[in-house]
Amino acid sequence: MAHKYVYFFSREQTEGDGGLKDLLGGKGAGLAEMTRLGINVPPGFTITTEACVCYVENDRSLPRPVWDQVFAHLKRLETCMDKKFGDRLNPLLVAVRSGARISMPGMMDTVLNLGLNEETVQALAVITQNERFAFDCYRRFIAMFGNVVLGIPGDRFENRLALKKKKRGIEQDTDLSVRDLKALIKEYKQLIKKTAGPDFPEDPMAQLRMAIEAVFDSWNADRAVEYRKIHNIPNEWGTAVNVQAMVFGNMGDTSGTGVVFTRNPASGEKKFFGEYLMNAQGEDVVAGTRTPEPVAQLEKTMPEVYGALVDIFQKLEKHYQDMQDLEFTVQDRQLYLLQTRSGKRTARAAIKIAADMVQEGLISKQVALMRIPCDQLEHVFHPMIDPRAKVKILARGLGASPGAASGKIVFTPERAQAMAENKEKIILVRMETSPEDIQGMNAAQGVLTAKGGMTSHAAVVARAMGKPCVSGCRGLFINEKKKTLTLGGMKFKELDTLTIDGSSGKVLQGAAKLTLPRLTMVFTQVMKWADDMRTLQVRANADTPHDALVARDFGAQGIGLCRTEHMFFNDERILYVRATILSENRKERQVPLKKLLSIQRSDFVEIFRVMEGLPVTIRLLDPPLHEFLPGKPGEIKALAKQMGVSQTDLNKKVNSLKEINPMLGHRGCRLGITFPEIYQMQTRAILEAACRLVKKGLRIFPEIMIPLVSHVNEFRITRQLVTEVAEEVIQKAGVKLNYRVGTMIELPRAALTADEIAREADFFSFGTNDLTQTLFGLSRDDAGSFLPEYIDKGVFAEDPFVTLDQAGLGQLIEIAVHKGRQARKDLHIGICGEHGGDPASIAFCDKAGIDYVSCSPFRVPTARLAAAQAAIRHLSSRPDFPAAAQPMPGAEQAG
Ligand code: PEP
Ligand code: MG
Repeated sequence: MAHKYVYFFSREQTEGDGGLKDLLGGKGAGLAEMTRLGINVPPGFTITTEACVCYVENDRSLPRPVWDQVFAHLKRLETCMDKKFGDRLNPLLVAVRSGARISMPGMMDTVLNLGLNEETVQALAVITQNERFAFDCYRRFIAMFGNVVLGIPGDRFENRLALKKKKRGIEQDTDLSVRDLKALIKEYKQLIKKTAGPDFPEDPMAQLRMAIEAVFDSWNADRAVEYRKIHNIPNEWGTAVNVQAMVFGNMGDTSGTGVVFTRNPASGEKKFFGEYLMNAQGEDVVAGTRTPEPVAQLEKTMPEVYGALVDIFQKLEKHYQDMQDLEFTVQDRQLYLLQTRSGKRTARAAIKIAADMVQEGLISKQVALMRIPCDQLEHVFHPMIDPRAKVKILARGLGASPGAASGKIVFTPERAQAMAENKEKIILVRMETSPEDIQGMNAAQGVLTAKGGMTSHAAVVARAMGKPCVSGCRGLFINEKKKTLTLGGMKFKELDTLTIDGSSGKVLQGAAKLTLPRLTMVFTQVMKWADDMRTLQVRANADTPHDALVARDFGAQGIGLCRTEHMFFNDERILYVRATILSENRKERQVPLKKLLSIQRSDFVEIFRVMEGLPVTIRLLDPPLHEFLPGKPGEIKALAKQMGVSQTDLNKKVNSLKEINPMLGHRGCRLGITFPEIYQMQTRAILEAACRLVKKGLRIFPEIMIPLVSHVNEFRITRQLVTEVAEEVIQKAGVKLNYRVGTMIELPRAALTADEIAREADFFSFGTNDLTQTLFGLSRDDAGSFLPEYIDKGVFAEDPFVTLDQAGLGQLIEIAVHKGRQARKDLHIGICGEHGGDPASIAFCDKAGIDYVSCSPFRVPTARLAAAQAAIRHLSSRPDFPAAAQPMPGAEQAG
């Protein structure tokens, strides 16, 4: 039997189902599943994602077997609808829509009313006894076909429409007469001939073939590729195409179309949420060119349709056990569903919905945890406008994506990108956004649009990116040419500053004071479930008492890395550090070291106090000394003056410390061995601080960590240095204090000789930043200049400094864990490189038997959730695990 490329769906016979998402795409699988559930879906067929892959491989031409099957299924659809495609008396019209595995809002293209031509439009007019409707459909079809299939910019059609309305003195498309529409159709066809070459194709079969090919082509359009890059969607997946009998929302005032979520996608509130446009076709809602009404309005205008809609929402939510995002059309009071999919939502909504569904008995706690997208969790902590701040509200739009942001106004995505490269904070202001704006939106702090509803492109994309967005701001008037805008009657120019609040929809003058929100009870509850599930511990990388406090509030179970050098960079302190470095001998060095001792001791007292009862790993000085000295002649001169030394001497010293390759130079434990006084001073500060608090009855667990060890002897020597001072301090204080001395594993040799080192060390902490650098031979500081190109060209799938390279680095870690524990069973092992906050890397750490991950304070909740998800995944591969707790496909992509 020939390979199957096309799947049919109709009330009588449906070949696919909801489980075939990979093959039929999200939309195709949803249509098949809804049809099977007995929901009113216009019949049609889905051309598979495999066909798209074949098309691309076949030099962008539809392979014969695919086309033959499309033809056969079109015949089936004709029988089912009792109409004929291209018939001059009773024509079948179809919608051609894309649908990838994962929804890509606004990325792929749709053509409606396909099959219309000069003859069939007349037939449609006769059948519906509505000439205006027939020609409105035809006008829309030609514009959509011209844009999507023939590549003519949509505004060329829009401009002609706007001009016609202006000439006729009308505002709404719906006020256009048959004569206007016919004239427009003529103009559109002329435009196509002039711009695209051949005439507009009158043959419906040619229209269908061209439309299918255009959908397949749009998979590789720049904007789709860009979207996939941002969202990590593989290029090889391809898109499916759905060909479906048309139903019409533009048949008058008893028709319409809408987009609805079964719960609020921004807050998670359990309330239907969506918009509806009367006498309109689907694209009018999504494009945001007309402002729709809330769906609740339907209850008043067409209560029976609203009732049917509510029944379907409930049925689908129960069936999918998840919040759904639906598209529907009402054709003359008859309700049709055109799409259902797991609705995209903000992280805040994801948490609330997951928690509510557990309470409602719809899903288990494990499923709830798997539904919360780890990489979006940080968005819950988005800044908001300080309630006490004095602000001037200029206008109000829709709160389309939560969080507040301030920035300079820019009007184009290109300008946004250029400004972002200069680290400027910006607000991208657009009439409405389109997929071409994606990179600009990504570069901006927030997005403000004049048009568009809660389901407009700007709203959907900003929500997925976790960017604040205010859409449909009616008081906003933009003059893109002059680069000015008016808001609430006030005029602003490009680069003036505005603040937007994507939660309330407010637009404010200037840069308002922002604060971080309090965590909700629901968040705390869900995090508690995560903590109950996970075995991997989560600590934080924190260098100040403030960071430690934030980390503890976020649930950190200790500090995994306190980089002591970060405490040195401050105007007063750096002077003592410099004096230490510039000292000619040990005796001279004692004076500034004494000052540093007192400063460090008080820092440690505060950090220990905040982390009372939890372990605190403090790393001794790591960076090369020249980092603390000035480099430019002017700076050297100023410092020489400040320190009372000659400029020549200072210059000599700076030059003597310069290294060609400082990352592989005189740093880490190498400094400790050659300048033992520095490590001795730091150890004294740590232990004196700890003893002081222990005396007051606090439980303090210091861990001293030696950086950049490659050979066991380096560790042995520094450990001895540390232990001698520590014992002396503890004895003198007369307290009982347990402390540990361990090492970072951040050089390949250390990993390979982990057994030798483990015999001496109390703990390991993988410094995967340096380990990545030294394993790849890739400079942490310079790789940024070419790594993006490496990712673009597919040399590396991901940036190895962001996501742990499991194939290479993973092996080193596994070797080190294995050898380390062989030598010392109770060896405590953590990871404190940046990977400690990356969900995929955390999953690896869980598998590799690491005890804890350590990450920046704001990523602690992410790490807690990622560790729980890793544990659930681990459990779900066990045969006795309940099936309902299997991870939901695609749930992690929701945003
Ligand atoms: C590391 O190398 O992974 C590490 C945590 O240390 P640093 O980033 O300070 O070099
Ligand atoms: Mg390091």
